[in-house]
Amino acid sequence: MFKNHASANKLFNRFTITRLFQSTRYPFFLSRLIIFTIRSLLKVYNKLYPLNVLVMSPHKANQPTDRSKKRSQSPPSSPKRRKISQNDSMADAVTKPSNGKNNMLVWFRSDLRTKDNPALAHALQKAQDQHESEPGRRKALVIALFVLSPSEFRSHDVGAVKVDFILRNLATLSEILWESYRIPLLVKTSSSAADVIKDMHQLCNAYSVSDLFANQEYEIDESRRDAKLIKSLPNDHVEFHLHQDQCVVPPGVLKSKSSNLTYTVYSPFKRMWFDVVKKSKDKYLTLARPLSDFPSPMNSVADLESLSIAHPDAIPDVLKGFELEAEKKKHLEELWPAGEVNALQNLDKFCSGAGKHESPGITAYNDARNYPNLENGTSRLSPYLAVGALTTKQCIVKAMEANGGKLDTGSSGIVTWIQELIWRDFYRNVLVGFPRVCMSKPFKLETMNIQWLFEDDVFQSWCYGKTGYPIVDAGMRQLQKTGWMHNRVRMIVASFLTKHLLHNWQHGEKFFANSLIDGDFASNNGGWQWVASTGTDAQPYFRIFNPYTQSEKFDPDGVYIKRWVPELAGLKTSAAIHNPHSVLSAKELVKLGYREKPIVDHKVARERAIAAFKLVLGKGGPVPKPKSNQGYGNHDYEEKETKGGAPKTKALESYFKDKIKSEN
Ligand SMILES: Cc1cc2nc3c(=O)[nH]c(=O)nc-3n(C[C@H](O)[C@H](O)[C@H](O)COP(=O)(O)OP(=O)(O)OC[C@H]3O[C@@H](n4cnc5c(N)ncnc54)[C@H](O)[C@@H]3O)c2cc1C
Repeated sequence: MFKNHASANKLFNRFTITRLFQSTRYPFFLSRLIIFTIRSLLKVYNKLYPLNVLVMSPHKANQPTDRSKKRSQSPPSSPKRRKISQNDSMADAVTKPSNGKNNMLVWFRSDLRTKDNPALAHALQKAQDQHESEPGRRKALVIALFVLSPSEFRSHDVGAVKVDFILRNLATLSEILWESYRIPLLVKTSSSAADVIKDMHQLCNAYSVSDLFANQEYEIDESRRDAKLIKSLPNDHVEFHLHQDQCVVPPGVLKSKSSNLTYTVYSPFKRMWFDVVKKSKDKYLTLARPLSDFPSPMNSVADLESLSIAHPDAIPDVLKGFELEAEKKKHLEELWPAGEVNALQNLDKFCSGAGKHESPGITAYNDARNYPNLENGTSRLSPYLAVGALTTKQCIVKAMEANGGKLDTGSSGIVTWIQELIWRDFYRNVLVGFPRVCMSKPFKLETMNIQWLFEDDVFQSWCYGKTGYPIVDAGMRQLQKTGWMHNRVRMIVASFLTKHLLHNWQHGEKFFANSLIDGDFASNNGGWQWVASTGTDAQPYFRIFNPYTQSEKFDPDGVYIKRWVPELAGLKTSAAIHNPHSVLSAKELVKLGYREKPIVDHKVARERAIAAFKLVLGKGGPVPKPKSNQGYGNHDYEEKETKGGAPKTKALESYFKDKIKSEN
């Protein structure tokens, strides 16, 4: 009847004991006695049939840890563990629960969707499998959970704009889960990571949870939190299943051919990525099973009520400390409608774009992506990816459909778009390979010696788009108004802060994280470190964006500038729009309401930056000529050598002080 003794043993154990618990109301000591007797019988059985290593008998690979050793003095309830082997996923490192609990809890984090959600799909699958294999048992309930942690939002620089988007996405997620499947989404508030762990134990006990499902988050704090949970949950007889959803190829899989280490350069990573994914399409590009594959409703409302869950929790409209002005909130709701339905619709629209200049879409992406004035030159899907209303995999599958099933050949626009998505995998790979980037350290440690300046008024002028450089100001104001900024302009403003203003990239990173609706640690940190020449595969320090030429090239008619810097909307000539100080007098500019002088002089600022970076990164000789354009979009750098060498470190600040800061 059974394939092997182990499964017979396992089934007997789970079925018999749990049925006894459920169907009777024996006093506590009686149930303990029964368990003890059954366990003793099983021990004898295991001895007779040594193949049975699974259920209750101690085994070398199942030695309890210190914490569970204490508990093992009361044998009937001591949890069993398998040691973690190299090939195990983190989730496999815990034992099966052996009591009456059988509900599934799905902990949503950065994955606010029902489609292509491996954690959710596996929870449903497990509930269904259990039901089929143990038909007499009460059907497992599937419960969803989101933990709101204002202190974690604060410590991770998640700003009000993204918090608002998370809440709105939660509301749509809750609606889909409940209306179609009677899966209630519970929303709990925790004040710290330590509390999250404590709360999770309480919740698992309160809702008789045997299995907790989640998709993995790779940042260091989140990884540590999960590791602690994995260690502690078996004490409550709860299995923690962690799945992968953020990357197409999970971090750690792709290693440099020559060194077998984490890739630190994008281009070879990308080549390997294409090779591996093409070879194993089924493995990497198959979407998780949709909810529609499972019976609906998933839960019986009466069973839910027995757990005192009559309905999903209300999703707060606003979180204390993360309020937005009513007008801004309304504007953001219109601009970024929440939920996976909208995310998928936008993906569809982008991928079926006709390729015309007015509505470019994916096939025109190669050309259109660099022009910030084009509304649909890029997909604008990053906010949905950041909260997990959409996955990279869904995007790539859709893009391949539009490309006749091809991944790295066919439409150049589509291939380029796929390559941009691969940056997400790349930066997550870096994060896992070099966790120091999560701990306020640059990838290139020597860049900690760069003598950054910090002047609050200068920084504030950058933050709020008052630098006197129209393209920089336009970008920062777009960010303030919409929570989003075009990639080309992100590079320009980031370069301006770190090179022209010689401010530490970490200030910019923090400000972006707090202001962006698509704030994503890996991409934000990667983007900033790339621009600041402190990161993996970073642009060489002597390549400095010229904001004037960038502006002329990518916003030739000044449409983008005029939209976001209305003071300049009336300017007629190209020269005036891109560099108003070269054409208009200080008086005329003041009359328009724009800065009298730019915050720094371009030429002087550029020299100062090269000098400061050269002291740390240069070899002291002439600045080398770059070999080629290195990957990150098609940039136009200034590649001139610095003349006259760099001033010495100590003198650096004063050397440039007067020249650099013309006015505030
Ligand atoms: C200084 C700086 C900070 C950044 N901060 C973030 C951030 O916090 N969150 C974020 O999602 N992106 C960030 N990026 C990357 C990029 O600017 C945005 O992903 C992109 O502008 C989003 O617009 P889109 O959805 O229209 O992108 P598309 O051009 O349509 O690209 C599709 C998707 O590919 C991914 N992608 C594209 N370019 C990159 C890239 N360079 N790095 C990583 N992923 C990329 C994004 O998920 C994007 O949604 C940053 C870039 C820089 C230079």
